[in-house]
Amino acid sequence: MPLILNKLQLAASLFRSNLTPKVIPLKFLHLTFIQHDEAQDEKRANVAVPSSKDRTKIIPVEISMKYLKSKAYKETYGNDPVWKQYRRNYKGNILPRKTRATCIVCGLIATGSPCPICRDEYLILDYHNIDLLRQFISQYDGQILHYNFTGLCQKAYKDLCVAIIKAKEYGILTYDVPFRYYDYVEWKN
Ligand SMILES: [Zn+2]
Repeated sequence: MPLILNKLQLAASLFRSNLTPKVIPLKFLHLTFIQHDEAQDEKRANVAVPSSKDRTKIIPVEISMKYLKSKAYKETYGNDPVWKQYRRNYKGNILPRKTRATCIVCGLIATGSPCPICRDEYLILDYHNIDLLRQFISQYDGQILHYNFTGLCQKAYKDLCVAIIKAKEYGILTYDVPFRYYDYVEWKN
């Protein structure tokens, strides 16, 4: 009996040793069925993206600063801030707690109603661009306007906060610190 068992085990191990190289691991199984068509890939790459949605072009801050003083800007926005005419697009009648995470995915505008900063490619959030940053600061208390009020996406809002803090630290953006009156009589005693 042990002889037969040994032989059977040997046969089984031989069978397995022949089998293992032929078996394809499950995670690579899908690769055997997909054959990449290079011509089609090239076609997909060459599909013309509408220029209004493309955000891969890097625009320097100087051009953005010139744009804010230009005639084209005056014609589109008038004397209002850039977020004035923007209306958020959301489902139902209850306002979501937060705005969307980002409007631009892989260098393209991925939504139907991009936020006021993302929709205009010449609006660059930078600490040099003071005219743009001032539009997002409240004239009453000097705080940064909330994203539920202006409609900025979370990424643009974060960039805005960084730019405003940086401009204040560099001394480009001036702001008033409330003066506090102390009663020094208590100290004299
Ligand atoms: Zn955005």
